[in-house]
This record gives sequence, C-alpha cells and structure tokens, in this order.
Amino acid sequence: MVTTSSGMSDIVAGWKSEGHSVAFVPTMGALHQGHGALIEKASELADRVVVSIFVNPLQFGTGEDFDSYPRRDEADQAFLRERRVDVLFMPSVDEVYPPGVVITAAAGPVGDTFEGASRPGHFDGVLRVVKRLCAIISPDFALFGRKDAQQLFLVDTMVRNEGLPITIVPVDTVRAPDGLALSSRNAYLSDDERARALAIPVALAEAERATTLSGALAVVRERLESEPGLTIDYVAGVDPETFHQLDEDSPLREATLIVAVSLSTTRLIDNRRLHFPQ
Ligand code: AMP
Repeated sequence: MVTTSSGMSDIVAGWKSEGHSVAFVPTMGALHQGHGALIEKASELADRVVVSIFVNPLQFGTGEDFDSYPRRDEADQAFLRERRVDVLFMPSVDEVYPPGVVITAAAGPVGDTFEGASRPGHFDGVLRVVKRLCAIISPDFALFGRKDAQQLFLVDTMVRNEGLPITIVPVDTVRAPDGLALSSRNAYLSDDERARALAIPVALAEAERATTLSGALAVVRERLESEPGLTIDYVAGVDPETFHQLDEDSPLREATLIVAVSLSTTRLIDNRRLHFPQ
C-alpha cells in the first residue's frame, strides 16, 4: 500500500521508464464486484494497475454521508490481494489536497442537473479529485462504471476538453443476481428496504419493452410510485451523447433512462440505455 503522493508518482515514473502502461481505478472503498469488474478490465488493458481508495470530502454535501460512508480497509485489502493489482493507493486528505495546491475543475451546466441538482457541488468535487489523482498517477487508462452515468459523462468531457492524455474506459454495471446494481451504499439498506429497492431494476427491465421514451418513463414512474417507502428523486431520459434531458415526446432511436430514488435515508441511482424501434 502507498499512502503518499510522491511515493505513488515515483512508482509510476519507474514503471514508465521501463515502458509499462498504467491503468487506474479510482474508488471510495467498500469494494464489491462492480469495482472488481473495473479492476479486471484494467488488468486486460495495461501492464500495471493502480487502485485508489479515497473517500473524497469534496464530493459530499453538508448533511450527506461522508462520516458514515462505509470504510472497510481490511476487507478491501483482502479483496485486492485476490486480484491483479500492483499498487493500492490510500492517501490522506492532506496528500490529495496539500495546502497551497490549487486544483480547478468545473463540471459546467450538466453538473448542475440530476445528481448535481440534488447534490450541489458534487460533480465539481468529483472532477477535482479525478484530476488530482490523475496528476499524481499519470495513467494511460482510467476506468469508470456506467452505473454512475453522469459522472462518467462529465469525467470523459473534462478529459477531452482539457486534452488530458488519458483514455477513459467505461465498464458495464455489475448487478446482484436479482438485478439490483451493486453499490457500496447498498450496505445501508435493511432487508426490507433491499427487497423494495428491487423495484428499480424491475422498472428498468419493464422500460426496455416500451416502444417510446414517454412510454418507458411512464412505466418506470408507475412501478416506482407503487413501491411503498420508495421516493422518486428523478426519472428522466437523457441524450447519451450530451446528457441533456430529452423531450419525452420526440421520436428517437435511443436514450439513457436515469433514475434516482430514496429509501429512507439511502439514495440509490441506476440507469439503462434504451433503443426504440423507428
Ligand atoms: P465508488 O467507490 O462508488 O466511488 O465507485 C468507484 C467506481 O466503481 C466508479 O467508477 C463507479 O461507477 C464504479 N462502480 C460502482 N458500482 C458499480 C457497479 N455496480 N458496476 C460497475 N461499476 C461500478
């Protein structure tokens, strides 16, 4: 395990001088098979794999779960030992944000919609940590899950806009056998809430059979609204290329249907790419 930024940069410099490529998997820990899929893809792409575990205070708002976010350092290290990971980077907040080092990153208008509307400043915090960690690690590839579709879109947009020499690699959402998207926050759910959360993948699967976006949105809203204890934050269709909200009635071939719900104090997100017959 490496805990200092300079130590991490030195290791990567050594690898690069030997001609090795580097793939980077940023995480906040409480690792599960979703993270495992990112690590597996990373090891297929590059000679060396770095996984970071850093619960980034900048991406949590006041009143959010920064203090209670699951921290499972020992289990995470055991999880990583079973996989092809060369270095676990676990820096302190001061190593990532040393006094005097200014990291600017702004998510722009898309950063204020959906997740960003419910969590003001969240994506500026995400982009700042990604930019800083990538400056420390200088990876050739950085892997992100499609589960966090808006995050993936904004990170990819930042990397393109700033001309950063990194390839952002998306990885499909890994689900439990019953369909619920794996998430570190699933640990907050009681058994009863976990059962109710299944309404999300069920609704998204039903949406796949719809022939229009408005039909798909109606099916999802109806399914989620009929689940007691589950509150919808948003259900929307977005353009996969721009993440702009789509007019529900416009005829289109494809859309990404995005969903955020709360079960008691736990917020869950999921999404599905939909294709419509013309
Ligand atoms: P987190 O630790 O929740 O910040 O997630 C770290 C990375 O893992 C992000 O790129 C997430 O999108 C990705 N990820 C989280 N859950 C899943 C999942 N169920 N399937 C695939 N990727 C995931």
